[in-house]
Amino acid sequence: MKKDIKNFSLDELKAYFTEIGEKSYRAEEIFRAIYNNKIFNFHDITTLPKTLRDALDNQFFITSSEVISKQKSSDSSIKFLIKFPDSSLVETVLIRETAHGKTRNTLCLSSQVGCAMKCKFCATGQMGFIRNLTTGEIIEQFLLVEKMAGKVNNIVFMGMGEPLANYENVKKAIKIITDPKGRGLGKRKIVISTSGIIDKIYKLADEISSVRLAISLHAATQKKRDYLMPGLRKYKISDLFEALKYYNRKTGNTITIEYLLIKDVNDDYKDAKDLIKLLRNLKFVKVNLIHFNQVAHIDFKPSNREKAFAEILRKNGVTVTIRHSKGEEIAAACGQLATNTKTSTKFPI
Ligand code: SAH
Ligand code: SF4
Repeated sequence: MKKDIKNFSLDELKAYFTEIGEKSYRAEEIFRAIYNNKIFNFHDITTLPKTLRDALDNQFFITSSEVISKQKSSDSSIKFLIKFPDSSLVETVLIRETAHGKTRNTLCLSSQVGCAMKCKFCATGQMGFIRNLTTGEIIEQFLLVEKMAGKVNNIVFMGMGEPLANYENVKKAIKIITDPKGRGLGKRKIVISTSGIIDKIYKLADEISSVRLAISLHAATQKKRDYLMPGLRKYKISDLFEALKYYNRKTGNTITIEYLLIKDVNDDYKDAKDLIKLLRNLKFVKVNLIHFNQVAHIDFKPSNREKAFAEILRKNGVTVTIRHSKGEEIAAACGQLATNTKTSTKFPI
């Protein structure tokens, strides 16, 4: 069976070439061809000798998926539905924002097909867990979008799945995408959003420290969080905050706390006070209050107390921003991603 070449780091490719009696600098040529020039067919990598191209084509593939639909919203977000050979579907969303005459492309990547955490407000959570994406499949979303829609400035792991529950594959994908010999995206341009897999937050701090971290908190008491995010019950909020302190000490990075405001669930005065108590004296956190996006078959409604909630936090010294995610009308916004083959239409690229 052919192997996905994107599962190989530069060092691993070099070792492979040495092993088959080739010059190891060939690995760098291939890295440049795939990651910088977006060449997805070995026969088109003309810097390589023909015999090597044939040999590579026998052993490896560069891409394996198909973009089966592409939907654009009026705010210019584009949702790509990507199908892998085992028929797994994932969604990847490109968010375009123009500020001060400059357009920035942020790509929201998926890390798993479905998610095991069962968060009550999240469309992906309702799908259940299907499987982890491989390193190559995580990278493939990024490469396909860059080839079709132009350079990506930032990556956020806020698509489908819990990135820290697929830690090794996410870590390796980041290593490859940020490799200066290839695409070389800056590590600080990458945000990992996690529901809070504590042991992996420590590993992240130790192993890939300069990425930015966002924590989906959504409730400031254990009871409420256990209700909203049942898959995370074994993680205590107090332990989570110890991990965040460690992350900040180790990396110097500020950490974003994401708090989804759901009507009559976590948006009253007491909820705000609980959150303030939790964040008191933590200089390194800032809060994003997130507008709840309606999801089919989920009863929750967006809160109408966003401004009041933000004001209470602000008065108590918490740095806070209200965020509306883009792409809501095409169900491309955070938490709305769930794949359903029946609704997809084929899109030729
Ligand atoms: N599993 C990770 C990353 C994917 S979810 C995490 O939970 O952080 C990305 C973000 O979308 C998270 O902050 C998540 O809490 C948020 N989200 C989930 N459902 C949502 C919804 N219905 N409306 C708005 N945001 C939602
Ligand atoms: Fe999974 Fe994140 Fe959705 Fe929770 S919010 S179910 S952790 S994707």
